[in-house]
Amino acid sequence: MPFRPRYTGLIDKYRDRLPVHDDTRIISLGEGNTPLIRLNNIPRLLGKEVDIYVKYEGLNPTGSFKDRGMTMAVTKAVDEGSRAIICASTGNTSAAAAAYASRAGIASFVLIPDGKIALGKLAQAMIHGAVVIQIKGNFDAGMQLVKDVALEAPVTIVNSINPFRLQGQKTAAFEIVEELECAPDFHCLPVGNAGNITAHWMGYREYQDHGIVNNHPRMVGYQAAGSAPFMRGQPVDNPETVATAIRIGHPQSWDKAWKVREESNGWFDECTDQEILAAQKLLALKEGVFCEPASATSLAGAIRDIKSGKIPEGSKVVCTLTGHGLKDPDIAISQSTAPVHTVEATLESVKRAILENMA
Ligand SMILES: *Cc1c(COP(=O)(O)O)cnc(C)c1O
Repeated sequence: MPFRPRYTGLIDKYRDRLPVHDDTRIISLGEGNTPLIRLNNIPRLLGKEVDIYVKYEGLNPTGSFKDRGMTMAVTKAVDEGSRAIICASTGNTSAAAAAYASRAGIASFVLIPDGKIALGKLAQAMIHGAVVIQIKGNFDAGMQLVKDVALEAPVTIVNSINPFRLQGQKTAAFEIVEELECAPDFHCLPVGNAGNITAHWMGYREYQDHGIVNNHPRMVGYQAAGSAPFMRGQPVDNPETVATAIRIGHPQSWDKAWKVREESNGWFDECTDQEILAAQKLLALKEGVFCEPASATSLAGAIRDIKSGKIPEGSKVVCTLTGHGLKDPDIAISQSTAPVHTVEATLESVKRAILENMA
């Protein structure tokens, strides 16, 4: 039979490794199973013999890795009888929460920072029917409010402090190991609350502990320079960065993240907004892959560490691209240098525009 069974999402695929029962009603949109793309041109430009792969999590149903966690969190919330979920969000969590809640037929409440959310993400929360509560404060303030209100209202928190989120997100590491037939040498991620780096490490450890693979990567987390509490050694009260998805000064998984660094013998570092945007653009121009600014932080950091030799030649490196570039079209357009040519609708003018712009 040349056909394979229909892919029905990561809970079905990894059922044995996730906290569900045979009769659990699964809330899924077919998340996971995202492409692991080997970069062809960027390693050559760097002049380094390295294998760089990007795990394109922007191709999840709502355009970010948050779907991996949300399918688990909402499945468990529904299983436990919850009628509403709530989250604080820089955008992608609210998009995922809104979509999975509507799939499940429950309500969603999302707290977003006033004015600092990418347009695509806001559109998603709205079209899926979330109750959008814009607070006059940043993500960290929203997170505290969510924790406080959940003590007094019948709502389930679906931020990454919900342990089921990390269970879902660990499956990205499973997929990478299965495709590479080993763990990479380095796994680079952008870090905000540090839930995702923690979840990936859980996945790699699980496969190693169960003898599916006999190595694990060094985990490398990059923060945006204006929002880099791990580099400052303490929370940052007024985080700032163009990479709004990681504009977080009080990471919720602080201790877990440091444990990951220690156990995996990895490190944290920071990237400037200029480095982040340059990496986003390089990836789009040289490899045809469009990710949002926060996502490019993993590649920006990896490029710097490959150039310096901290990530040595001969290494296999995976960079997680956490979200899709279309989430934040304003940034993409504003940093694009390619002009739009407006001409008469005639063969002559179009031909001229082509010939004048041939490389
Ligand atoms: C949520 C998010 C992050 C940060 O992930 P954490 O688990 O909070 O560290 C990074 N990039 C994008 C696009 C995100 O949506």
